[in-house]
Amino acid sequence: MIRFENVHKSFGKLEVLKGIDARIAKGEVVCLIGPSGSGKSTLLRCVNGLEDYQSGEITIDGARIDAHAASIHRLRTRVSMVFQRFNLFPHRTALENVMEGPVHVLKQPKAQVRERATALLERVGLAAKIDAMPDQLSGGQQQRVAIARALAMQPDAILLDEPTSALDPEMVGEVLSVMRALAAEKMTMLIVTHEIEFARQVADRVLFLDGGRIVEDGPAREVIGSPRHPRTQDFLRRVT
Ligand code: ADP
Ligand code: MG
Repeated sequence: MIRFENVHKSFGKLEVLKGIDARIAKGEVVCLIGPSGSGKSTLLRCVNGLEDYQSGEITIDGARIDAHAASIHRLRTRVSMVFQRFNLFPHRTALENVMEGPVHVLKQPKAQVRERATALLERVGLAAKIDAMPDQLSGGQQQRVAIARALAMQPDAILLDEPTSALDPEMVGEVLSVMRALAAEKMTMLIVTHEIEFARQVADRVLFLDGGRIVEDGPAREVIGSPRHPRTQDFLRRVT
């Protein structure tokens, strides 16, 4: 469903992605791991058209991602993104945050969106917080609102960039369990994470990115349990 073919991306003279080849099938959960600065966020942002790339191709169901094309807005509604810092609208309630995209971007009828948004907030365990403002919610609750907001767009895939990295440790579990539930429902997800145990248990595949190259790509249990590449071995030794 998402396909990278020899993708190169530079910021000025700094080459950040050095020929990325990868595929993510529908219903697959892929965790992207790697050291800080290896290009993980950039890779995700290219899929969503938040960054352009210089050569190669990223396609979603065959449609080429081009950050400068008029069609990028439509493509962006098909892959929702969840950020490390939840980025909720501070002056809107949890429910309004979830309704925003479907109502204002997709132009769907409000009553119908409200019903679906309410159900999504229930699904992430926030039925009691529908009318809460973001600053009345914990980090874990805000991140769950952000996931509900991503789901409200009825995307084909969700990209999550270190969704638990900004959370206090006691809140990490509640966000991981929402992702675990989505994985069980076969939501296509590309997740940048440092939660190695989560990746081992939940991901179908793990990609290890180092210095702008995917140096290892395989079943989660293999890449994490018995990494082949010395760089992966070294990284995993340091983070686990
Ligand atoms: P990761 O998410 O793996 O930590 P990033 O994708 O954020 O890595 O960054 C990869 C490299 O690209 C880093 O060297 C970073 O400094 C650089 N970089 C990221 N965004 C920009 C930008 N907007 N302009 C210039 N350099 C950037
Ligand atoms: Mg990053």
